[in-house]
Amino acid sequence: MNQTDKKSVKVNWQGKVVSIQPRTRVWRYLIDNRTHYHIGYNLFLADEEDAGKTFSVAISEKQLAKGLFRVGDILKGTAWTKIYKQREFADYYRVGSIEIISRESRKSEKLPPPWIITVPSLQIYEERGARQLSKSRWNTKCFQCIWANMANVEVQWDFDRNIKKYRFESFCYGPKSCKFYTMGKPRPVSYKNLGPVHDEGWLDDICTERRGEDE
Ligand code: SF4
Repeated sequence: MNQTDKKSVKVNWQGKVVSIQPRTRVWRYLIDNRTHYHIGYNLFLADEEDAGKTFSVAISEKQLAKGLFRVGDILKGTAWTKIYKQREFADYYRVGSIEIISRESRKSEKLPPPWIITVPSLQIYEERGARQLSKSRWNTKCFQCIWANMANVEVQWDFDRNIKKYRFESFCYGPKSCKFYTMGKPRPVSYKNLGPVHDEGWLDDICTERRGEDE
């Protein structure tokens, strides 16, 4: 599959919501700066026509507030395929015409973690701040949690020519005391001819310094 598709194509989609997470862009510069921008939400849906397959669509805060979507809802809509595959984690974006086909009425009966509850506003995510989360946890125990996040990351690789490298990274906005939490390996951040430095967790402490262990 090409990293860049020249043309974006409109598609119709339908599926059952299995997870709702914030959609973010993270800018990294060595270990001097890690800034999280909260730009919307990713809906992860089980494909009803292809059992076992999931796909994700990027929606705005306004669309979530209007639809109040929950895990278990069956939705359909339109969207566009992405042009820059290495920059956008969601499979489809520019979502429109969302319709609720059926509404999940039961509240989650599971005790957290993971937190499968009403998704908060982007401002709440912004205020809480995020810690690096192991990718395997994101994929498994944490996948349905409202505090889990897979970010579109830009690593500033050269300031003079404004060259950035792109990748995806998993984060957690949840309580620091969560028993599922594990950071995973320190993440390398490169800059031009310098060898990589590693984000070993102290940026996590800075990003989440406003809250205590159980918040
Ligand atoms: S580690 Fe974070 S994302 Fe995972 S269940 Fe706990 S709070 Fe949720």
